[in-house]
Amino acid sequence: MKNFEYAAPRSEAEVLTLLHSRSGHTEILAGGTDLVGLMQANIVRPERVVNILEVPSLQTIEQLDNGVLAVGSTVTLDVLLDHPYLTPYPALRQAIEGIASMQLQCQGTLGGEVLQRPQCWFFRSGRGLLAGGGKLPTEGDNRFHAIFGNHGPAKFVSTSRLAPALVALNAQVRVIGPGETDENFVSVESLFRTPRHEAEREHTLLPNQLLTHLMIPAATGFNATYEVRHGAGPDYPLASAAAALEIEGGVVREARIVLGHVAPTPWLSHEAAAAIVGQPVNEETGAAAGAAAIVSASPLSNNDYKVQLAQVAVKRAILRAAGQETGGF
Ligand SMILES: Cc1cc2nc3c(=O)[nH]c(=O)nc-3n(C[C@H](O)[C@H](O)[C@H](O)COP(=O)(O)OP(=O)(O)OC[C@H]3O[C@@H](n4cnc5c(N)ncnc54)[C@H](O)[C@@H]3O)c2cc1C
Repeated sequence: MKNFEYAAPRSEAEVLTLLHSRSGHTEILAGGTDLVGLMQANIVRPERVVNILEVPSLQTIEQLDNGVLAVGSTVTLDVLLDHPYLTPYPALRQAIEGIASMQLQCQGTLGGEVLQRPQCWFFRSGRGLLAGGGKLPTEGDNRFHAIFGNHGPAKFVSTSRLAPALVALNAQVRVIGPGETDENFVSVESLFRTPRHEAEREHTLLPNQLLTHLMIPAATGFNATYEVRHGAGPDYPLASAAAALEIEGGVVREARIVLGHVAPTPWLSHEAAAAIVGQPVNEETGAAAGAAAIVSASPLSNNDYKVQLAQVAVKRAILRAAGQETGGF
C-alpha cells in the first residue's frame, strides 16, 4: 500500500478543510471495509485519508418534525437494522439483512454502503472502472455485468444493496462542500450516474464533498426489497428489486420500482410502475410488472440469465410489499 497522510477530524467543517479538490488524492474513510481493500490492492492510491467516524453529527438517527428520517452517514448497518425508526421501511431492513455477515453489518456504515465502489472484476483487478472503454467486459467474462444502461463504456453494476430501496422510497442525501457553507439536498436517484470516461466516478459527489445524512421520507405506503441470490451467505445478489407502493381501495395508486445489480446505477423502472398502477396486487399483475420491467433489457454475451432474474425480482418485490409473498428462491 502507498504511504498516506491520515486525519481524524471531529467536525464537518474540519472534514471539508481536509478534503483536497482532486479525485484520487484524498479519500474519505468510514468503516473501511471497501476502501482499505482497494488501497491494499493499489486500485485506490490516496495521498490523504480522512476518517469521518469521529464526527458526532454524522452518528445520529433522528425523526424530523415533517416525518423525515435523517440518518447520519456513519451510522452502522447493525445499529440501523435494530432501530425502531426502521420499522416502516422493510425494504431497507431486508436489504441490510441481505448482507448476511454480522462483521460487515457492524463495521459497514450507511454512507459507505451506498458509496462503495463497483465489484466489477475488471475494476478490482486494476483495469479501470470502464475496463478499456467497455471492451474487456464486452469481449470477456460478463456474467455479472449490466443488462440495462450498458450501451456506453460502463458495463459494471451498481453495488449498493440499499440504494434501490432508497430510490424507491424517494430518499435524499444531504451533501456539504466544497465551500464551507455549501449544503445541498440531492435525490439518491441523482446521486448515481453512469460514467462516460475514467475520470468520472459512479456517483456525482465531488472529491471535496461529504455525504452527511440520508433523508428518508415518512413511509406512507408499503415497501419491500427482494433479492435473487445464488446461495446463502455474504455475497452480492445477482439481481434485486425494491418496490414502494401506495395502495388505495385495493388498487395501486402510485409505485416506484427500482432494480438493483443490473445496471451501472440503481435502475428506476417506469415501465414496471406503469404496469402495476391502477391494478390490484396479485400474482398476475406482479408478473405483468416484472415482464414490463425487462422490455428494454440489453444483455451482454454471457448474462442473459439475469433478464429472467430481474423479472422475478420485480414481481416478488411487489408481492412482498403488499404482504403477498409466496415462497421464492
Ligand atoms: C470481504 C467483504 C465481503 C463483502 N460482502 C458483501 C456482500 O456479500 N454483500 C454486500 O452487500 N456487501 C458486501 N460487502 C460490502 C460492504 O457492505 C461494504 O464494504 C460496506 O457497507 C461499506 O461501508 P464502509 O463504511 O466500510 O465503507 P468504506 O470502505 O469506509 O467506504 C466505501 C466508499 O465510500 C466512500 N465514503 C464512505 N462514506 C462516505 C461519506 N460519508 N461521504 C462520501 N464518501 C464516503 C469512501 O471514500 C469509499 O470510497 C463486502 C465487503 C467485504 C470487505
